[in-house]
Amino acid sequence: MTDIAIIGGGPAGLTAALYAARGGVSVRLLEELFPGGQIVKTHCIENYPGISDGPDGYALAARFEEHAGKAGVAPEYAGVTALSLTDDKKEITLATGETFEAKAVILCMGASPRSLGVPGERELTTHGVSYCATCDGAFFRGKIATVIGGGDTAISDALYLSKLCSKVYVVHRRDELRASAVLANAARKTENIEFVWNSVPEAFLGEDKLTAIRLKNVKTGEVSDLVTDGAFVAVGIVPKTDLVKDQLTLASNGSIETNERMETSVKGVFAAGDIRNTPLRQVVTACADGAIAATYAIEAVRL
Ligand code: NAP
Repeated sequence: MTDIAIIGGGPAGLTAALYAARGGVSVRLLEELFPGGQIVKTHCIENYPGISDGPDGYALAARFEEHAGKAGVAPEYAGVTALSLTDDKKEITLATGETFEAKAVILCMGASPRSLGVPGERELTTHGVSYCATCDGAFFRGKIATVIGGGDTAISDALYLSKLCSKVYVVHRRDELRASAVLANAARKTENIEFVWNSVPEAFLGEDKLTAIRLKNVKTGEVSDLVTDGAFVAVGIVPKTDLVKDQLTLASNGSIETNERMETSVKGVFAAGDIRNTPLRQVVTACADGAIAATYAIEAVRL
């Protein structure tokens, strides 16, 4: 019987692993792809205290992984296919076919990018439509890129793309950005970034590859086609709760409800980071969640 199973190896999961291992309990950390979660999509993290040189997400994730490893936990690269979570018993099933039990579980599966759900989006994904500027931006070197959204992800993506692309449009449904002031100001000062305000995509156009985005101005109703080589959709995130949504209490936005100890509605089950109902989604808050969850999971295991 494992003491604590941690599902997901982003900042929350890797920090939970560090704290749990240092607490002297047995830990298994399951990650399906690579360490870091959403932060690997970030080209420059400038607001993690104590590290002002702005590492990229991969580099910071590697440091988190190394730190957890030094404490004695290495991520196991295995997808979790099923979770059975009750007050009395917690069972974790892996893609390898293995099922094991843990006394406590910390859910750190994070979130995935939200899609717009408009015609052409699904068909042209990987053919000009992308959800990750740092992954796919290089394909549009010297070309025109368009970012959709007005939050931190959209504006950091636009700033990243502005260094690669000849022109970057930012299409936002309002005329005011949601992104933090420091990012918004930097984007406004960048010559090759142009804002297209009060507009939403109605369709992504093109046969084999994206050629334009059909936009509707939500104030005037006017419809126009914006010629672009790439489209980067950054309209928010959806918590990855598929495996647990029928077993735990969720908030109206689909994230997992927790208390300040990161406890969910099931005894011995904790949630940390972007998957939980949190007012702030930053690396620093995900790490804090992971540390708190591990602390109270250790307490639960020892009771
Ligand atoms: P977000 O903050 O939820 O912003 C989503 C943006 O997309 C908003 O501007 C929203 O418009 C727009 N939007 C939503 N649905 C739309 C739709 N159907 N059509 C058109 N536009 C739509 O999401 P995010 O930028 O991915 O950020 C997620 C979390 O990660 C946030 O907490 C953010 O602070 C954090 N984050 C932080 C950093 C950083 O600190 N450097 C970097 C990346 C992400 P409205 O503004 O009108 O709602």
